[in-house]
Amino acid sequence: KSKKLIISVLLILCIITGFIPGLVWHYLSPVLTIITLLTFISFCKKKIASTDTPVNRVTEIALPRIVEKQAIGDTAQLLITSLGSAYRKQARQSNELVIDTILDNGIKLIWSKFNCHTVAFFFPTLDGGYKLRKVNSSSDYINADAIIQPGVGVLGSFLKDGMKQLNLPEITNDSSTLYYYTKDTGVRSLMASLISAGNVDRGIIVVDSTNKNNFTDEDHAFLNVLASVIGQAVFNTYLYTEHKLIHGRLAAMSSIEKEFFKNLNLESILDTMIGVIPFAIACDRITISVKNNIEENEAIIKRAYGVDSSWFINKKFSIKDKSIAGILFSKNMMLSRDFSKGHYEIRYCDDEPINEEFRSFIAVPVGVDDCKAMILIESFKQDAFSESCKELLTRLSISAGLAIEKIIVLDKARTLATRDGLTGLRNHREFQQILKDEITRSIRYNDPLALVLCDIDFFKKLNDTWGHQFGDLVLKGISSHLESCIRDSVDTAARYGGEEFALVLVKTDEKNAAETTERIRAHIAGLVFRTPSGEDIHVTMSFGIAVYRQHAKQLDELIKKADKALYRAKDNGRNRVEVF
Ligand code: GH3
Ligand code: MG
Ligand code: MG
Repeated sequence: KSKKLIISVLLILCIITGFIPGLVWHYLSPVLTIITLLTFISFCKKKIASTDTPVNRVTEIALPRIVEKQAIGDTAQLLITSLGSAYRKQARQSNELVIDTILDNGIKLIWSKFNCHTVAFFFPTLDGGYKLRKVNSSSDYINADAIIQPGVGVLGSFLKDGMKQLNLPEITNDSSTLYYYTKDTGVRSLMASLISAGNVDRGIIVVDSTNKNNFTDEDHAFLNVLASVIGQAVFNTYLYTEHKLIHGRLAAMSSIEKEFFKNLNLESILDTMIGVIPFAIACDRITISVKNNIEENEAIIKRAYGVDSSWFINKKFSIKDKSIAGILFSKNMMLSRDFSKGHYEIRYCDDEPINEEFRSFIAVPVGVDDCKAMILIESFKQDAFSESCKELLTRLSISAGLAIEKIIVLDKARTLATRDGLTGLRNHREFQQILKDEITRSIRYNDPLALVLCDIDFFKKLNDTWGHQFGDLVLKGISSHLESCIRDSVDTAARYGGEEFALVLVKTDEKNAAETTERIRAHIAGLVFRTPSGEDIHVTMSFGIAVYRQHAKQLDELIKKADKALYRAKDNGRNRVEVF
């Protein structure tokens, strides 16, 4: 760029001073002027482009976004997998690899600093000993399985005495008494430092030499600092992995819980459970059963996975039976144990397929107040279900139980708000809403819509003669018959008031409405009710019909006209149908 600038300036000077001879000047000057100008313009353009760097700014913004996107994708993938034991095992294995790298680097550092024979790291075992974890030695006689027991040998005494550092400048003993050699290798001096982090002893570094007095005080101090740094690094690596695992589990659980409460629907809760459990827990069969809402002592297997799953799906069973599921349903308790050998235990019912290969099971009740559902997980392995798996299932069952209980409460609230307590029919408010919606639909599709209002004849007298309780019984009986006489999930029967009812008949014109209502009238009049005094009586009803658009164009008007027709039915002798 600067060369071009210099050339441009020189050429401009040439042009101005007339340095170039006249002839050349005469022919070349216009060409040179153009070239000079073009070079200058292109130089300026580049200069502007280099000060303003939109390209760089775009990548700066885009890169973190890409990374963030990838992280979210990976997290979603991780969520469910992180519940699995295979994932935990793999995370811990890679953690050990990181620790090996830390120790390898520690060995490299010591090896480069000291003239030594062997550098060895020992890590604690579960029973209080210290096992050889990493070693570098000039000797061929390293005992790779060496374990130093507290109190045994020089290193063992060092551990037992609770010292932080050991200095042995003049060793005369056979090297095999150090336990990490299989035979004497002529070790004459040794230093060792305890690795501790978080106030807990986490290992020992041992450095030895075949020379007497090989290590100075400065060397001891160095080893001490190194032990502390390595201790902290190892400790933090373990902490990081464990925290990552705990975080993964918590994140997975909260995403599952969110899923439970998102839809508040039993089927999707069951789908989530049957989708998640096989990922998280190694097993050969999962069956999830749910208590029947109507039949108190019955439950049904709603989801099944694994061996013979197609047989178990949708099977009903009694929770009063002495099957595993039956007992646990009534006791509402979690149970995990091995199956007793040589004796098949019934899981659900007598006719289920018998498989003697199963060795252990875990059964978890779902529900907080009482057992709403039951998860039964079986395995071909003995003692297959660990503490962490029990903990996971407990959490899963508590949140699923809370979600199911919420569904039940919401259903109850919805029923209370929309249904009449005595008859179970839609209440007055719900009737008004349904009529409004049906009128809207009738307008949109240009369909006819009939409203029937009906009232029990001489009901006061019935109450007065046989009592209110019998009156209630008649109201319930008539309600269920009204509902069964109309089209299911199409028409609506509602309790309009005391002994008055309303029927909303969709896509029904005057003729059809009159026919249907007449059929209902005859059906009700044909019913027999047995009074408390043992007499069989008949109850009749009067009906009034109004058709939307034909008789009225507004909701209130439609009701008024149906009511008018009902009064006419009463006036004309009762037990009859009148159209407005
Ligand atoms: P009509 O043929 O003219 O309709 O005569 P009716 O006796 O049926 O009419 P009326 O309106 O005089 O009486 C209605 C009675 O219905 C009065 C009330 O005590 C009774 N009733 C209203 N709601 C209930 C209820 O929930 N249970 C019982 N047992 N009776 C009810
Ligand atoms: Mg009446
Ligand atoms: Mg009445």
